[in-house]
Amino acid sequence: MARIAVLPGDGVGPEIIREALKVLRQVAALFGLPLQFQEGIVGGIAIDHCGTPLPPETGRLCRAADAILFGAVGGPQWDSLPVDRRPERGLLALRKELGLYANLRPVKLFAPLVDTSPLKREIIEGVDLLVLRELTGGLYFGEPKGIGPAPDGKGERGVDTLSYTTDEIERIARIGFKIAAQRRKRLTSVDKVNVLASSQLWRRVVTETAKEFPGVELDHMLVDNCSMQLIRDPRRFDVVLTENTFGDILSDEAAMLVGSIGMLASASMGDGPGLYEPIHGSAPDIAGQDTVNPLATILSAAMLLRYSLHHEPAAAAIETAVDRVLEAGYRTLDIRQPGHTVLIGTAQMGDLVVEHIVRGC
Ligand code: NAD
Repeated sequence: MARIAVLPGDGVGPEIIREALKVLRQVAALFGLPLQFQEGIVGGIAIDHCGTPLPPETGRLCRAADAILFGAVGGPQWDSLPVDRRPERGLLALRKELGLYANLRPVKLFAPLVDTSPLKREIIEGVDLLVLRELTGGLYFGEPKGIGPAPDGKGERGVDTLSYTTDEIERIARIGFKIAAQRRKRLTSVDKVNVLASSQLWRRVVTETAKEFPGVELDHMLVDNCSMQLIRDPRRFDVVLTENTFGDILSDEAAMLVGSIGMLASASMGDGPGLYEPIHGSAPDIAGQDTVNPLATILSAAMLLRYSLHHEPAAAAIETAVDRVLEAGYRTLDIRQPGHTVLIGTAQMGDLVVEHIVRGC
């Protein structure tokens, strides 16, 4: 029996998780997979109930699980809280506690969405890259961090620290080279070597680690150039290796290559259970309206089956069903093409994916 910890979180979290669970239950029945789901609270809802974004029971639930399915956290009602008590801290604490240092964000265009992206068809057709983001270092965790008096006595000063050690860089680089070796054998390491000391170490360690993987071609790119090349010539990329903050920003940009942020799934891996979540946030502007696109979360569930439960046929069945639903012209609001497609809501999108999984088996 595989134990899945389910953390819907805030905003659209419960809506997208509901659809991903529908899909997981269907593939579990079809493929004879014994899955057990246990729900926990995290983020703003946990602050409201327990005064902390990651209650100890949720931490225990996740540590005992084989995998974690995560919705999203945050919302305007918690925005005025200090940074260390905000809903997002629940997710950061979970990543740190479970040692989830490798974040895989595949950016693959589903062919039926080629005209949904704001970019031209000839630029994005065939886009298939993977952003590998380091997830437990850099600005999000570095110390010192905080707001204190300014040294000149005038007002305050906010401080964040961007720090990386050799070990932290080496372990994420190795994962990057291993993934690239199974794909098109090209790894682009992103840094800001012309300005940042942490980037100088990053580039040196990645270059050194490359010697263990002679079959993979390595190139280095400054983050500002990378943000431009992603739009100019996205097909040149295979695996894009980045530190934490650069990866966060570049993957949102890359979402536009495939039509919508509502299409991008992710897997966070470390030494314990993997965590699977859409790359988008809690989208409070559309919460509770049955308009949010659940496909990023459904595709995250497929990654859970592939990477944590090692069940490739079940993962592939979900991805094929998503492709067929899009091919049939069904769209949520974010990926709609007026005149050419049928506009549907969140729950109906989940139902259609389930229906196509059944048809495909
Ligand atoms: P967001 O990703 O929630 O939303 C950005 C825009 O994209 C919004 O207009 C939203 O409606 C739209 N959008 C996002 N997902 C969509 C989907 N599946 N279908 C259709 N449209 C979608 O980012 P934001 O607005 O900057 O942040 C909202 C809250 O989420 C904040 O509190 C932020 O801190 C939090 N956040 C959480 C996570 C996480 O839980 N992993 C990640 C990013 C942001």
